[in-house]
Parts: sequence; structure tokens; C-alpha cells
Amino acid sequence: MPRAWVSELLFLAALLAGALVLALFFGYLPWFLLLALAILFGRWCHQLYRLDSWLRSRRRNPPSSWGVWGQLFDDYYRLRRRHHLSKRRLAAVIREFREATAAMPDGTLVLDREFRILWYNQAACTLAGLTSRSDFGQPVSNLIRSPRLVAFIEVGDFERSLEIPSPVDPTRRLMLRIVPYGDEQYLMLIRDVTRLHRLQAMRRDFVANASHELRSPLTVLGGYLDSMVEDRDLDPAWRAPVRQMRAQCQRMNNLVNDLLELSRLETEESDAPMDSPVDMPALIRRLGRDAVLADAEAHPLDIDIETERCLHGVENELYSALSNLVINAFRYSEAERPVSVRWHEADDGGLVFEVQDRGVGIDRRHLPFITQRFYRVDSSHSRAQGGTGLGLAIVKHVLKRHGAELDVESEPGVGSIFRCVFPSERACATRQRRSSAV
Ligand code: ADP
Repeated sequence: MPRAWVSELLFLAALLAGALVLALFFGYLPWFLLLALAILFGRWCHQLYRLDSWLRSRRRNPPSSWGVWGQLFDDYYRLRRRHHLSKRRLAAVIREFREATAAMPDGTLVLDREFRILWYNQAACTLAGLTSRSDFGQPVSNLIRSPRLVAFIEVGDFERSLEIPSPVDPTRRLMLRIVPYGDEQYLMLIRDVTRLHRLQAMRRDFVANASHELRSPLTVLGGYLDSMVEDRDLDPAWRAPVRQMRAQCQRMNNLVNDLLELSRLETEESDAPMDSPVDMPALIRRLGRDAVLADAEAHPLDIDIETERCLHGVENELYSALSNLVINAFRYSEAERPVSVRWHEADDGGLVFEVQDRGVGIDRRHLPFITQRFYRVDSSHSRAQGGTGLGLAIVKHVLKRHGAELDVESEPGVGSIFRCVFPSERACATRQRRSSAV
């Protein structure tokens, strides 16, 4: 038995023994027993009173006592100290976290599961214009007003970041990241990317301006070379070099056009409009005809239009992206190997444009990179075929603007399938089902 209880019981026994001895001398045993219990009860009340006043006071040391009450005071004192120490440790951690995040140049906001603000640092005030304590508890999208932020939160794909104009100064650009943590809490990080944005804009403008400036001299050169090739009086020794010059001039022309197209697409920030239907079956038939006319190696092209459904988007962008895929299918397969084009509906109501060739194929390790600018699996083959290395980069940008994904299946020596998968929200009006071959 614990010592505290032994002394408590000994005290009780002493009280009872005292009552018995007194009763032996004076009689009145029940009265003396009652007196002993009253003394015990009085001690307990007194100790309870001391405990209560100690708990309410700010005194650190517990009242001194013995027996069960002494043990109780000591245990409670130890518990209180332990609690106090862990509270101080926690407060120190929180203080350090706040000091560290306050010193960060990036804005940091702690959000709850409803995306309401629980806490933010000084940088968030400067970058996002949060001002007063009343901002706490407000939904973040009420304070950083941007329809793109609302859509970003609704979609919930926080692997991606979001770039928006600053609510404080529209000439500045902010990059927002949301990091989920703990029990459905979120950390929002805000970074000022104005400098990076300006550098990118400068690079885009430079490429666009340089390409634009190159266009006119190339047109003049191309014109002269065209007429020289057709000139019957040209010295036969010059025929081959002039033809080569014209081919290279044509390549430069293609490069300049692709660079201009790409820089235009990169400058477009918004998604393609959702209210302008493009007659995709007609567009695919047209691009099939154009591709066949331009194909020197006469690959057979089979076009299978399984649905007459159309798409909301930008017609010339879609034409450019899809024709790049068909031209690549011709470019990277031997003459007379057939190429198939399919336009069909996916199980989820989305629409799919698919080009299949039986050409050289692409090794799996190259697949993640083929949509990068100037990435070529086989540079000499691409250049020899008049490739600019920008075709799939253009495809990627156009698809991104249309909310679509590019899916590639390929096996070296067997062929490739390029699929553009458009979301069902972009599909519109169905017409009749038909199939044709070019
Ligand atoms: P390029 O103008 O060189 O064709 P792209 O951006 O269109 O540039 O394509 C990038 C690279 O991807 C190409 O150089 C080629 O190696 C590879 N590629 C693209 N389409 C195909 C295809 N249908 N079959 C095999 N390889 C392909």
C-alpha cells in the first residue's frame, strides 16, 4: 500500500483509538466516535479548501501537507509543471515558426478546410493587400479577388500553381501555390514573380520581333529563288545549289512562322472561348486534303469521322495543331505506309482526335520530352524532312488552351498513335455519323 495511505489510515486509527480511550473513562462512546469522524471530516474540508485556493492562486509551490492530501498536492504540482513546460515549449515553437514565416519574402497564409484565413504573415499583407485583423476568418477568395483563384480552388488540382495579377498593383504578377497539410488545412504561398514574368515577356517579344523582322527578307529571298529555279536560262551548274537554297529558305520560313505562332500562343493567357463552335468534321476533312496535297511521298490517308460532334474553340489554332500531327505522321513514316485519322467520342462524352502511323516510332525514354521546343529524337531526319522542332510544342499549347490532353502511344519500328483528348464541356451539337477516305 502506498505510504500516503498508510499514514492516512494510521491517523484514522489513532482518532478511533482516542475515541475508545475517552469512552472508557467517560462513557458516551457514540459521541466520541462522532467527534473522531468530525475531526477527520474537518481535516478533509480544510485540505480541500487549501487545494481550491492554491489552484485559484498564481502561487507555484503547493501547500505542504501529509498523508493522502500531501500526495495529492505533490502529484498535482508535478502535472501542473509538466503541462506548463510543454506549453512553454509549444509557444516557443509557434513563436519561432511565426518569426521564420514573418521573415520570409513570400506571403504565407494558413487556411482552414473552407479556405478561410486562419493566419498570415507580413509579406502576405504587402503582396495581397490583406490589412486588418478582421481579415481573419474570411474566405481567401473574398480578399484576393480573382475569378481564376475561385476556379483554381474549385478544381482543387494543387499540384499546379496559379499566376494572377496582384490585387494591390495590377502591373505586378503573383504566383500562388496551395499546399494541403494536416487535417484538411492548407498553406497558401504567394510569390512575386513580376521580374520573371517580365523576363519571359522580354524573351517572347524578342523572339516575336526577330521572327517578324526576318519574315520580309525571307519572302524577298524566297521570291528570287523561286524565279531562279524556274528560269530556263540559268546556268545548269547553279541549278542544284539554287534548289538547295530555296529548300533552306523554305525551312527558315517555316521556322519563323512556327516561332511566331508559338510566341502568340504563349502570350495568350486565357483559355480558348467556349462560345464559338468549330465544325471539327469539316476541319478534319479539309486538313486531310491539304496534308495529302502537300505530301510528296503519297502516303495513303484514311479519315474516319465517327461522330459529327463539334468543339468550342479557336478554328485556326485547332487546324494548326491537328495538321502538325498529321504532317508528323507522314514525315516519320516511309512512303506509302498508311496513316489513319479518327474523330470519335470518348466514354465520358469527351471528343478524341487520333492519328496513327506505321512509321519509325519513338523510344519510350523520349516521350516525356517530345513536346519541348526544339526537342528531336533524330535531328538529322527531322531537319531533312523540313521539321522545325516546334510542331509538338505548338500542339501542346493549343491543347492546353482548349483544356485538352495529348496522349502518345509509340513503339520503335511499329508506329505511333497521337491522341488529343478534349473534355466533354467543349463538345457541342451532334450531326449525322459518316465515314470517308481521302
Ligand atoms: P519536328 O518539326 O522535328 O517534327 P515536332 O515538335 O513536331 O518537331 O516533333 C518533335 C520530335 O518528336 C520529332 O523531331 C520526332 O523525333 C518526334 N516525332 C513527332 N511525331 C512523330 C511521329 N509521328 N513518329 C515518330 N516520331 C515523331
